[in-house]
Amino acid sequence: MLRLYNTLTRKVEDFKPINPPNVGIYTCGPTVYREVHIGNFRTYLGADFLRRTLEYNGFKVTHIKNITDVGHMRQVGHGHHAVQIDPIIKEALDQGKTPLKIAKYYTSIFLQDEEKLNIKKATKYPKASEHVREMIEIIKILLKKDLAYETDGTVYFNVKKFKDYGKLSGNTLERMDKLLKAVRISVETDKKDSVDFALWKKAEKGRLMKWQSPWGPPAGGGFPGWHIECTAMSIKYLGDTFDIHTGGEDLIFPHHEDEIAQSEGASGQKFVNYWLHGGYLLVDNEKMSRSKGNVYTISDLEKKKFEPLAFRYLTLMTHYRTKMNFTFDALHGAQTALNRLRADIANWDDPRIGCAEYEQRFLEAINNDLNLPEALSIVWELVRSDYPRSAKAESLFRFDEVLGLGLKKKLEVRSEKLEVPEKVMEMIKEREELRKQKRYHLADQMRNKIKKMGYNAIDKEEGTEIKKI
Ligand SMILES: [Zn+2]
Repeated sequence: MLRLYNTLTRKVEDFKPINPPNVGIYTCGPTVYREVHIGNFRTYLGADFLRRTLEYNGFKVTHIKNITDVGHMRQVGHGHHAVQIDPIIKEALDQGKTPLKIAKYYTSIFLQDEEKLNIKKATKYPKASEHVREMIEIIKILLKKDLAYETDGTVYFNVKKFKDYGKLSGNTLERMDKLLKAVRISVETDKKDSVDFALWKKAEKGRLMKWQSPWGPPAGGGFPGWHIECTAMSIKYLGDTFDIHTGGEDLIFPHHEDEIAQSEGASGQKFVNYWLHGGYLLVDNEKMSRSKGNVYTISDLEKKKFEPLAFRYLTLMTHYRTKMNFTFDALHGAQTALNRLRADIANWDDPRIGCAEYEQRFLEAINNDLNLPEALSIVWELVRSDYPRSAKAESLFRFDEVLGLGLKKKLEVRSEKLEVPEKVMEMIKEREELRKQKRYHLADQMRNKIKKMGYNAIDKEEGTEIKKI
């Protein structure tokens, strides 16, 4: 039985889906106006381990991960001389791109990074900008139910009318006023109550992304609040009530608390059964911040010659709910361990019947609230055990369905039992990279060069197969 820690009940509980074997998961996705950093990717890796563990247990997962491509774009100045505050956006605009083009650009980088980290593709990546109509419909219901009110084109949720407010975060109404002052820098002065939050905002002058709504002056337009995005997209794709909602622990309040208030307020049903939150990632024991220059992206790690999969390995070493301290020494250790694991399995025999004892222990570890550090230590015990190599290979490849370290792919290249020159291996890797970037023309040229060296590169789903001509 899979057991998971539920932030809502503050307990580790047996996992019981609403409609087995189907499981619905919603993950708060990235804001795509700059590259996503490794702290966010730790959270997305956590959701990936969860999904893989569910699939390992035989569940069929529908995974929704939204793309926040609305908001966070403010201009200062007027007319043609308007300037974006965000320097990255400014640069992109200087290149003559529209906000949606910028969002598209960073979305594609995000998806590439996920692929590099071997994060399984979500069933769907809905974009906030394409679901504004659904958001407006929910806001209309909240207004009708008197859970929201409009002030001069902006619509607020009336927190004091939702009696369950605070059930996720523990920030009940009595504690709210004080807390809100600490978490929100607010310029919204037209609220009835400082605890209320915006569902829809009137567009300020010069705003680029805005939509028509039933509220405010017809010409002005407005844009949705961040919380309503997730409510609209999760309910649309997973229903009024669904199984699991994930995010980083920094999203518990106010984002997830507000999602519950809006969703349950509108539908009258329980929103989510299990809330799972990933712990923070610190860098050298400090919070990441742009001013400290310690905000790292996947491409930063690659520039320092680390594989993204080494970061994946590193996240396996800390329980998903525990604070993780990222250092380059630790990443170096993870890269070394990953290389050693690959070297160890390189001379194993073809997979046969696995090791039942280890498979049992591995399953118990992952089903105990995703205890992956424990699962990883079982992997190493197995590698060092006296079991036949074919049995170890069989079990390890099963485990890798959860770990996602791409071990099978590495073995398949080896299984050709070819002495492939390093130069050719490098060209193969380069070609795989070109294919990933969809630069097929260059990839074909590379294939011809490889042919001239005496090898055929054959594209397989798991990677490139190399054959001597
Ligand atoms: Zn969200």
